[in-house]
Amino acid sequence: MPASSPPAQSFRAGYITILGKPNVGKSTLINTLIGQKIAAVSPRPQTTRQRVLGIRTERQAQLLFLDSPGFHQSSRPLNRWMLQQIQQNLHDADIVCLMSAVDIAWDAIDQQLFQLAVETNKPIFLLLNKVDSIAKEKLLPRLKQMSTDCNDLVARPVSAVSDEGLDALIATVRAELPHHPPYYPEDLPTDQSIRFICAEIVREKTMTALWQEIPYAVAVIIEEFKEPRQVNGTTVIKGVIIVEKQSQKPIVIGKGGQQLKGIGCAAREEIENLVGGPVFLSLFVKVSKDWTKNPQKRREYGYG
Ligand code: GDP
Ligand code: MG
Repeated sequence: MPASSPPAQSFRAGYITILGKPNVGKSTLINTLIGQKIAAVSPRPQTTRQRVLGIRTERQAQLLFLDSPGFHQSSRPLNRWMLQQIQQNLHDADIVCLMSAVDIAWDAIDQQLFQLAVETNKPIFLLLNKVDSIAKEKLLPRLKQMSTDCNDLVARPVSAVSDEGLDALIATVRAELPHHPPYYPEDLPTDQSIRFICAEIVREKTMTALWQEIPYAVAVIIEEFKEPRQVNGTTVIKGVIIVEKQSQKPIVIGKGGQQLKGIGCAAREEIENLVGGPVFLSLFVKVSKDWTKNPQKRREYGYG
């Protein structure tokens, strides 16, 4: 073994689930910690519908982050499915991070999430995110409230955008991980396929552009993903944006196709960063009537 490799038994690896209400910044945090965009981020709640695994491999540890969909109380089938995902993530986790943010009030749902976390008997970290956007004197009472409501556990101020508190968080989380060899190869940022990440990027851009017009019912599938045949060649991608009502289709397309064009441009730029080369992205809009209520269709679009 080369002198620089740590002895195998000192390696730590484990799963960390990030739990929290919609919009507290769970996906942003994971993207920051992984150093790459793998989870859809948008200013609109409930962008995350799937669990995403973000992998951070260090010299002596591998941290595997599970991004939960935003917890939401409702009996709509899609949301029931989300809750199941959250429970699955809690079950799979070695460590639970419960996250809130300074721009979102702490309430009974957070309390309920904390109870779910306590029931797992796993180490819990409390994170208060977006501290870059609040004055220091307002921060302390927020931290105190979070801590008081959660059995006096320490609440950590963090910012997924300015990186504040993240080194300290990683150091503490790392120390709590079990001794275990790495679960995944070290150069892999996620267990999700590139197709899935592209679909997430298109979905994020759609939701960001249309968050006032379209309810949660947007899914994206990548029907075609052709890798370039030569170095510096163009990756050709065909994506389909699926809505659940006929009336939503013209909204996504926009006047003269401008809306869809804007979504496509924004998504293409990001996918080009991801694949490291030029991308030809064509997007289509398809109506799949009431797909969120149809289990078979939900499975087909990756949500079930
Ligand atoms: P999620 O629903 O919990 O996954 O939240 P997202 O990661 O999608 O983030 C929701 C919104 O909060 C987005 O507009 C992010 O840009 C923003 N956000 C996330 N983290 C931070 C942060 O540390 N500081 C600030 N100022 N905004 C943030
Ligand atoms: Mg999210």
